[in-house]
Amino acid sequence: MIIILKPEIDQQELENLMTWLRNMGLEIHMSEGANTTIMGLVGDTSTVDINLLRALDCVADVKRIQEPFKKANRKFHPQDSVITLSSSDDKGNSFEAKIGGGHFMTIAGPCSVESPEQISAIAAAVKSSGAQALRGGAFKPRTSPYAFQGMQAEGIELLQEARKATGLPIVTEIMDLNQLDYFDDVDVIQVGARNMQNFVLLRELGKIRKPILLKRGFAATIEELLMSAEYLMAGGNEQVILCERGVRTFEPLTRNTLDLSAIPIIKELSHLPVVVDPSHATGVARYVRPMSLAAVAAGADGLLIEVHNSPKTALCDGQQSITPEEFDRLAKDIDAMRIAIGQCNS
Ligand code: PEP
Ligand code: MN
Repeated sequence: MIIILKPEIDQQELENLMTWLRNMGLEIHMSEGANTTIMGLVGDTSTVDINLLRALDCVADVKRIQEPFKKANRKFHPQDSVITLSSSDDKGNSFEAKIGGGHFMTIAGPCSVESPEQISAIAAAVKSSGAQALRGGAFKPRTSPYAFQGMQAEGIELLQEARKATGLPIVTEIMDLNQLDYFDDVDVIQVGARNMQNFVLLRELGKIRKPILLKRGFAATIEELLMSAEYLMAGGNEQVILCERGVRTFEPLTRNTLDLSAIPIIKELSHLPVVVDPSHATGVARYVRPMSLAAVAAGADGLLIEVHNSPKTALCDGQQSITPEEFDRLAKDIDAMRIAIGQCNS
């Protein structure tokens, strides 16, 4: 971290600042130029409050050299993280799916679990098209309190049934800590956009040893997403999958604006795998295919796609759900795109 001091400063104030920084365990290197004096701080600056420093009278500016996230930082973990999901079906067959380090994972399924028939039909369909995991919301964060709120605990049981039938690991969203017990037998816990900065939830999920799919908040910067991942990892849970699902902009023709540049940026800054959710990003079923392919081309490690066997009658997000037939065609195009860009692992 570098502190640029104002030209004429009070010596006592400077002394106080230096004592404060040294007490934080930091070493100070002063560099006096003709017009500017610069303080270089050496040591762990991740706990330094940059805004507090900026507010001091003697400080002109502060610049971070090191990112404020450590565990999620590629600098300290150069190799891609690979996360493995293991599951089995009721015939005793075991399955393993990996994401990261060249392994691509397509997670598909409805926005919400609606009935045993609905989830079992969709699970069987996406499995036969090559999906490696099944998504389905049981606890649903809805804007309106009058909208369908999900099947809750029963929804999770239906996902477990679908896993038994297909062997697909299941991904479902937690909204509150008081639901945690229901997630004992869930393969990946999703933290949705609305909860990306629910730090109490993140801290608790950091204590468990199960993959977390962390979605970017719709007004969150990439650094804020990585800091939220850091909350999970600081607690010891290193199995974090990041999800770009679009951010809110001034554009009304899509539900959100898919920030594809987040993919190469996150992959440069972090070793964690990145999936893209083109369904919530666009909010329009016919845009899911082009954005999925663009995400693959941009280097995503996976996709999270809403698939419904009857989008017109879906209880949630039918407008952005593709049919199993469309998903089947898309899955083939995704494979072709991966080959085209030379991404050849499983
Ligand atoms: C979801 O994936 O079901 C969901 C609610 O998404 P988001 O948190 O990205 O809005
Ligand atoms: Mn949805």
